[in-house]
Amino acid sequence: MLAKITSAAVVGLDAVPITVEVDIAAQGLPSFTIVGLGDKAIEESKERVRAALRNTGADLPPKRITVNLAPADLPKEGPAYDLPIALGILIASEQLKTDANDSIFLGELSLDGSLRRIWGVLPCAIMAREKNFKNLFVPVDNVSEAAVVDKLTIYPVKTLRQLFDHFATAPMPKQKQILPAKHQKQKFEGITESEYDFENIRGQESAKRALEIAAAGGHNLLMKGPPGAGKTLMARSFATILPKLTFEESLEVTKIYSVANLLSQNNPIITSRPIRSPHHTTSNIGLIGGGNIPRPGEISLAHRGVLFLDEFPEFPRHVLEALRQPMEDGFIVVSRAAGSVKFPSRFTLIAASNPCPCGFFGDETRSCTCMPGTITKYQKRISGPILDRIDMHVSVPAIPAGKLTGKHQSESSSTIQKRAQKARDIQLKRFRGLKITSNAEMNNKQLKAFCNLDEASVLLLKQAISKLNLSARAFHRVIKIARTIADLEGSDKIKSNHVAEALQYRPSIDN
Ligand SMILES: [Zn+2]
Repeated sequence: MLAKITSAAVVGLDAVPITVEVDIAAQGLPSFTIVGLGDKAIEESKERVRAALRNTGADLPPKRITVNLAPADLPKEGPAYDLPIALGILIASEQLKTDANDSIFLGELSLDGSLRRIWGVLPCAIMAREKNFKNLFVPVDNVSEAAVVDKLTIYPVKTLRQLFDHFATAPMPKQKQILPAKHQKQKFEGITESEYDFENIRGQESAKRALEIAAAGGHNLLMKGPPGAGKTLMARSFATILPKLTFEESLEVTKIYSVANLLSQNNPIITSRPIRSPHHTTSNIGLIGGGNIPRPGEISLAHRGVLFLDEFPEFPRHVLEALRQPMEDGFIVVSRAAGSVKFPSRFTLIAASNPCPCGFFGDETRSCTCMPGTITKYQKRISGPILDRIDMHVSVPAIPAGKLTGKHQSESSSTIQKRAQKARDIQLKRFRGLKITSNAEMNNKQLKAFCNLDEASVLLLKQAISKLNLSARAFHRVIKIARTIADLEGSDKIKSNHVAEALQYRPSIDN
C-alpha cells in the first residue's frame, strides 16, 4: 500500500512542502530504501525509524519498503523527516488508518521513540498557514516557536507512541489525544537586561548624541579614536537605547534564527534587536552567509539589529567590500548548486577604528609610534566606497583623567531609549504601508516626499555642497540624518539647525 504524508523543507528562509511517499510492496526481498536527494542524516533516518517503531510497539514489516521524498530535485537535509517517514510506514503497513491530508509533520526521532527538537520550524509554520494546512505536528520542544503563528493548530508531540494513539483506529480514551498548543502572542521589550548602561559612561557627549541619532533613525556610524576612549563600551551599550522590535520585524528576525538553528525552548522568539559582533578573523561565509546548504551569516543574524565591527580596518579588504551590496540593498543573495537564496540583511553598522595601528596618532597626551607610511596604509584599508556608505562619522577622543572620575552623572539608557523610541514611532507612522521602518531606509523618491526642507536649510545645504564638495550620495545621507534629528525634536519640518548638526557627522572623505 502507498501512504502520502506532508512534511516541509527549508530553502533559504522559506519553507516548501515535501511529500513523503511510503510504498510497501508484498513482493521482493525485505529492504528499506530512502530516495529523493537526501543527505547523510536522512540516510541514517532508517536506523532511527526502525528502532523507534520497535520501541513504540509497532512493526517494521519485513517487506520491500521504499520511501520517496518529493520533489526529488530539491536537496533535503536533517532529521526532520523521521516522524513523517515513521507515520507513513504505520499507515502503509495498515497498522494505522488516517489520511492526515490537512497536516504537516516534522520531527527527529530518538531510538526510544521520543521526539527531538529540530531547526527551521517557524518558516514551516508560516508556510503551513499560507498553504492552508490545518494542523502542524512538531516536537514538543519546538512548540513555542511554532505557536506564534495564528490560524494554525499546533500539536506538540512527545513520542511516536503518542502520535500513534492520537490517530489510532480503535477509540482511545480522551486523555490519549494530543492537546493543541495555545497561540502565543509575544511581548516586545525595548530594553533587554544588560550589564551596560549609558549612565556609566562619563563624558563623550557628542558620541553619545550621535549614537542616539543612529538608534532613532537606523543610521550607520563609525567611531574613531584611541584605545581606552570607550568606543567598545559605547557600542555595547548601544543595544540598550534601540527602539523596540515591531511584531513583523520580530517574525523576520526569528525566521533567520530558526534557520540558523539558534533558537532554544527558553528563547523561542527573538523579541529584542540582535547585536552581532564578529571578530575580524571571521570567515567570509561566517560573515556574509553561504555554505553547501546556505545558512545566514552575521550580516543576516544582525538583521533589524546591529552589526558591530570593532577594529574595523583589521577586517580583510575583500570582506569589507562584500559588505557594500548588502548595506545598499538590505539583503544578500547567496548562490548554491541549485539556484540561489536570499537572506535579509538590514542592519545598523556600528564600526570602531583606531586612528593608526598603535592607536595614538593625533593624540595630545601620548605620541604615535607608527611609521608615517603605515598610518596612511592603515587608514586606506577602508575603501572610500565603504566609508561613503557609513552615514555618520564621529571622533571619540581620549578622556581627560579628571572627567573619568568626575561626579557628573550621565543620562541613563532608558531615558535615551524613550527619545529614540518616540522618534521611531513617528517614522513607523510616516512609512506605514511602505515596507520600510526607518529614515535610513528611504529611497530617493521617499526622500523627496518626506523631507520637507525650509528655506534656510536649502541655503545651508547649497553652501555645503559647494564648500565641502558633497557627493550626491553624501548629500542624501545628510538629509536623512537631518530628518531623524528633526524627528527626535518632534519637528515635522527639517530646519537649518537640524541640517547643520547633520553636516557635522559628514564623512571626512567624500567620493
Ligand atoms: Zn600610531
